[in-house]
Amino acid sequence: MIVTETTPAVHPPYPYFTEEHELIRRTVKQFCLDEIAPRAQEWEEARAYPKELFKRAAELGLFGIRIDPEWGGVGMDWWAVAAMYDALRYTDFPSLNIGFMVQSDLTIPLIGDLGTDEQKHEFMKPAIAGDRIAALAISEPGCGSDVAAMRTTAREDGGDLVITGQKLWITNGVIADFLLLAVRTSEHRHRGISLVLLPTDVKGFSVGKRIAKVGHVASDTAHLYFDECRIPASYVLGRRNHGFYYIMEHFQGERLATSLLVLSFMDRSLELAIHYGKERHAFGHPVIKNQVWRHRFAEHRASVEAARWLIYRALDLMNRKKSANREISMAKLFATDLSQRVTYDCMQMFGGFGYTTEYPIGRIWRDMRLYTIGAGTSEIMKEILAKQDGL
Ligand SMILES: Cc1cc2nc3c(=O)[nH]c(=O)nc-3n(C[C@H](O)[C@H](O)[C@H](O)COP(=O)(O)OP(=O)(O)OC[C@H]3O[C@@H](n4cnc5c(N)ncnc54)[C@H](O)[C@@H]3O)c2cc1C
Repeated sequence: MIVTETTPAVHPPYPYFTEEHELIRRTVKQFCLDEIAPRAQEWEEARAYPKELFKRAAELGLFGIRIDPEWGGVGMDWWAVAAMYDALRYTDFPSLNIGFMVQSDLTIPLIGDLGTDEQKHEFMKPAIAGDRIAALAISEPGCGSDVAAMRTTAREDGGDLVITGQKLWITNGVIADFLLLAVRTSEHRHRGISLVLLPTDVKGFSVGKRIAKVGHVASDTAHLYFDECRIPASYVLGRRNHGFYYIMEHFQGERLATSLLVLSFMDRSLELAIHYGKERHAFGHPVIKNQVWRHRFAEHRASVEAARWLIYRALDLMNRKKSANREISMAKLFATDLSQRVTYDCMQMFGGFGYTTEYPIGRIWRDMRLYTIGAGTSEIMKEILAKQDGL
């Protein structure tokens, strides 16, 4: 059984959402309920989901919400993105949500902002249409938080770039048709990194053994190898040697999207746990009626609402094209940390059944563990905030 509506309190009329945004929410929710959630456990067990889901999501416009219609996008705002993430919680399947997020918010917007018309035609338009899957490849075995430590290099040769090195932890890495790849183009630590677009059918590119993970088990997370991969210099995205600054700037959108994803799964966990707690009886009454639980959920509701407003504050700034570095760092730190406690308690509400694969709550709890690590760890968020206070 799929629980859909148990929490009318989740959506009071926030002032930012219009009827158009609500339409996105309804459409995406229906898509999740009809086409994803019923098969999520099957795909979880198969450790993979069909690539065709990207095409279906693209048909609903999910990959180009903020991109100009000229390129196949929808041309809407960040609130439309928020509506989409909110409804995507009904997948009950974070492995898919992270794959979609890489496509919609980690790669396409970067090409939209930095790409030439030729690059947009070749890479962005088919990605928005769901015909080409994208991955963002920055991290390496020796470089995660410390982005400027990357060692994968691109050297010039006869007007081409020749790339050698490796990338680790790359979401969508196995299924990707192209990579938005960060490479070292000079020895200068920060001013020596460039972004390039690399089709994965290029000679010398290979995918290593699939990384076995604790959570997001159906999301492919790959170790990628580059052995003298040759691409034309026209595949450099934006200015050469400016990549580090582009990455830092676009991390904002990535962290905001991550915060929205986590927020939506906190809402979902509460929805599932409250529903279960009302139905499950022990000692002659619904288990949720025990004051310890009633109060715990009341606390979680309050905290999740605080997270929501922190995220919405950042969204509002981004929507008005204002700097939101501080607000996004706070939102990412607060929401991902909170999600550990919220999903833990929601799972606890299910008793033994929470520890089975019969209900999605165990999967959501496990998968949310990623988000204090990915997209900038909690410690890095604190570093950013502390530095802003001159500490
Ligand atoms: C499932 C998954 C999917 C991912 N997807 C992608 C992807 O699609 N593309 C991509 O490029 N990367 C991806 N990543 C990589 C992810 O962004 C990195 O794992 C993350 O940035 C942390 O880097 P690291 O693992 O190298 O940890 P490290 O940087 O080695 O950090 C180890 C620990 O030290 C702490 N630490 C580091 N520096 C400091 C400091 N200055 N002060 C205090 N503490 C510090 C960190 O917070 C952490 O706790 C993914 C990772 C995972 C697990």
